[in-house]
Amino acid sequence: METEVSNQQHTCKTCQNTFPGVYCNRCGEKVIDPKEKSFRYFLGNVFNAITFVDSKFYRSLKLMLLKPGFVSSQIIQGIRTPYIKPISMFFIVNLLYFLMASSDTYNTRLDSQLNQMPYSKVVRGIVEQKIEKENISLDVFRVRYEQQSTSLAKLMLIVFVLFTGVFILFLNMRKKLYFYDHLTVSLEFNAMFIFIGNVVLHWFMFLLIKFISWMGISLDQYLTDPVYTSIAVIIAMTILYFMQRRVYQDSVVWSLVKALAFIPCLAMSIIAYRVILFFVTILTV
Ligand SMILES: [Zn+2]
Repeated sequence: METEVSNQQHTCKTCQNTFPGVYCNRCGEKVIDPKEKSFRYFLGNVFNAITFVDSKFYRSLKLMLLKPGFVSSQIIQGIRTPYIKPISMFFIVNLLYFLMASSDTYNTRLDSQLNQMPYSKVVRGIVEQKIEKENISLDVFRVRYEQQSTSLAKLMLIVFVLFTGVFILFLNMRKKLYFYDHLTVSLEFNAMFIFIGNVVLHWFMFLLIKFISWMGISLDQYLTDPVYTSIAVIIAMTILYFMQRRVYQDSVVWSLVKALAFIPCLAMSIIAYRVILFFVTILTV
């Protein structure tokens, strides 16, 4: 499609540089092909903008699901244009997660903060003070807290990427890569962990439970928190194992050891993230 214009010399409309090909080699401006002004092309752009669905997105998502670590290793080597930026993939998945409100992992409810965390005692003290000072009921406070917490969590999730990025750096200190490269790996890891472990798993379990109960069997007694946690651990270990193999070229044994060592790191990252989310929320609500 771009062959007719690509061999000629052009003068850049933006910076007046003369260059061969489609993109200006000084400022990156693109030569417009008259076809790109057609109505059909415009509709295609609108569709892409609304759905994020373009070939880069599909290709990257497919590779991230089927070959974890492949896109990161390509990007670290400098092969970037065929793929969506890992940070964009992360925020698209993040958006899906919050749209579906699928689980409590990142968007932590007040009741989880009050009762289920190792630091819950501190949370209870602070919340009691707050509702006493403002003279409101816990129910009124809960609504306000959760609105604020949810809107903060959408941005704060990047803090979680930083924590897991630091742990990935520690696990791979000897590889002589930049922290930036480990962050690329962390973004891909978290995008897929949220996508498979929350969005996909949530809907899979939802449909499975519907189907099973339609046959007259109840799964409730088996689907406890430890079961969900175990599934999440297996998903996280599988993704990290393949990332160690592909990005860091570790042996099978080392990849397994690091995938196992990563689980407590992930748990610590979740706790640290929830502590920070709580304090930022309580200070701004
Ligand atoms: Zn230019």
